[in-house]
Amino acid sequence: MIDDIENFDFPGSDAYGDGTGDGVRPLPDSESSGTEGGAGADGPKWANLPVADAGIPGAQKRKKSLGEILVETSVISRAQLDEALQAQQAAGKGQKLGQILLEKNLISEEDMLRALAAQLDLPYYTRLPINDIDPALVENIPIAFCRDNKLLPVARDDFNVTVAVADPLNIFPLDDLRLILSTNINIVVSPPSIIEASINRVFERSNDNSKKVIDELNVPEIGMDEDLEETRDLLESTDDEKPIIRLVNGLLTRAVKEKASDIHIEPYDAEIVVRFRIDGALHDKMQIPKRHGNSLASRVKILGKLNIAEKRVPQDGRINIKVAGRDIDVRLSVLPTAHGERIVMRLLDKTSGAKRLDQMGMEEDLFKVWTNLIEQKHGMVLVTGPTGSGKSSMLYASLMHINSTDINILTIEDPVEYQLPGVGQIEVKDKIGMGFAEGLRSILRQDPDVIMIGEIRDATTATIAMQSSMTGHLVFSTLHTNDSAATVTRLMDFNIQSFQISSAVLGVAAVRLVRKLCQTCREAYDPSDRELQIVGITREKLAGKKIYRAGQGCDRCQNRAYSGRVGIYELMVFDDHIRETIIKSPDAKAIKRVAIERGMKTLRESAMSKVVDGLTSIDEAVQKTQTDDLDLGL
Ligand SMILES: [Zn+2]
Repeated sequence: MIDDIENFDFPGSDAYGDGTGDGVRPLPDSESSGTEGGAGADGPKWANLPVADAGIPGAQKRKKSLGEILVETSVISRAQLDEALQAQQAAGKGQKLGQILLEKNLISEEDMLRALAAQLDLPYYTRLPINDIDPALVENIPIAFCRDNKLLPVARDDFNVTVAVADPLNIFPLDDLRLILSTNINIVVSPPSIIEASINRVFERSNDNSKKVIDELNVPEIGMDEDLEETRDLLESTDDEKPIIRLVNGLLTRAVKEKASDIHIEPYDAEIVVRFRIDGALHDKMQIPKRHGNSLASRVKILGKLNIAEKRVPQDGRINIKVAGRDIDVRLSVLPTAHGERIVMRLLDKTSGAKRLDQMGMEEDLFKVWTNLIEQKHGMVLVTGPTGSGKSSMLYASLMHINSTDINILTIEDPVEYQLPGVGQIEVKDKIGMGFAEGLRSILRQDPDVIMIGEIRDATTATIAMQSSMTGHLVFSTLHTNDSAATVTRLMDFNIQSFQISSAVLGVAAVRLVRKLCQTCREAYDPSDRELQIVGITREKLAGKKIYRAGQGCDRCQNRAYSGRVGIYELMVFDDHIRETIIKSPDAKAIKRVAIERGMKTLRESAMSKVVDGLTSIDEAVQKTQTDDLDLGL
């Protein structure tokens, strides 16, 4: 241990600071060193604090033994030292002299610490300048770290941070601290009781300081909402809580209020950017000083019950919170990047409830065809689209539509997004080996009439789902494909035969969500012929109806020009022609061509009907149905 200490770098330590200059080692930055004991006018204010035992003659010039120092400072007598040394020899190797003296009650812990400081050539302070300690110094350091290791940063200059420690031989926390602060460290020694009291005082002040930072960031105050009935509601957070807790609570509360689906916390070179996904688009919400990054990530990880110390591998977790009486399920993903940990929180509002099928924005003719499909006794009904396209909402609405007391509906989901009354819902738990396939096998033993599988994403699940739909069950599920026709080829990728698909699948709905124009600030305009041509509308078809585009934004839409979303649908019913095509030439383009000939409206056409209704813009309609451009160039 002593070897370690000797190799340890203690720049700027002036062991006694007694003003004599004796023992001051010439160091490049010695003038700016925060530990410059007998500093003159240029030294830090607190450098003139009482320094204990200033002037142990010669102690700082040559390393003396602990015992010698204790005798020289008259803490113990020469005879007592000799006695203790004999005891040490008798006790054998490994027994420390200090420990023996302590056990014999010849010295106090403080005596020993003081002597140890002298031996190590370190300043010893019996008081710390609490009021002069900049709270910013401890902002990135967990208070528990300081308490556990009995240390506290007390001063900083351009090159060094001075840290008061109660155990100068414990160098590992100092290594950690050097990393956290990315700076050189000087140490001074102080009694543990002094350090402990100072930690509490400084961290209290640090909280006040961070509050100011956070207030500047316009985080809404917690407790502004009137709904305070439920316990453990985020809104019940008090001002006493640590600012970082309030910051995270504030972010979650604000996200729920703004109906954000995701919160992104993205560290960059200079700052941390917080963005919310609202109606499918990301919006910058806040910039947080980089130095809050670690504590912010730690707080979120604590909420998600993740390992705070692990910063090198991705972690996933869940947070259950309550905001304004609403149960919010948060899916948490933490990904280490070059600039720090990137965090995405997906919010699911469990209490907002699923929409009804007639609230999904389906055109009337589609609604009739779809309800006919989902009222069948057996077969497979599929919904397809990319992540966040409204597949789950569509499935939930469909289940609720057919739900009644005389049928048994069971679901296997990842995650359960909404609680459906009267429906048995099971959640996938990959960690304990409960995937979709395993869950599905269990469900089948529960005598279901209708089964909903959150997603078919592997061959095993596809096979069991297919078999179930052919043995008297109505099976609902989703697939991750671009359009309805691609679903057929995706199922074939999962080793399902084309004849099975053609006989079991009743129909496929491709869904997307397009943003709705803010009805307050939308702008009517006269689209060019070219625009109309791109989206396939003739002026005759418009029949004098107005086309709108995004306006300048207003208070109602929080200057986003769009507010809320509406579904667009492409519904492929598996009639005889389609079934025949699937068996003869199971190719997505061929199937789509036949479907269109049979009168299927594409996603693009569905979007255009929303444009004509003034609900969305041509830009939005085109952007959300890009794939149709490719496919329709048949
Ligand atoms: Zn508006």
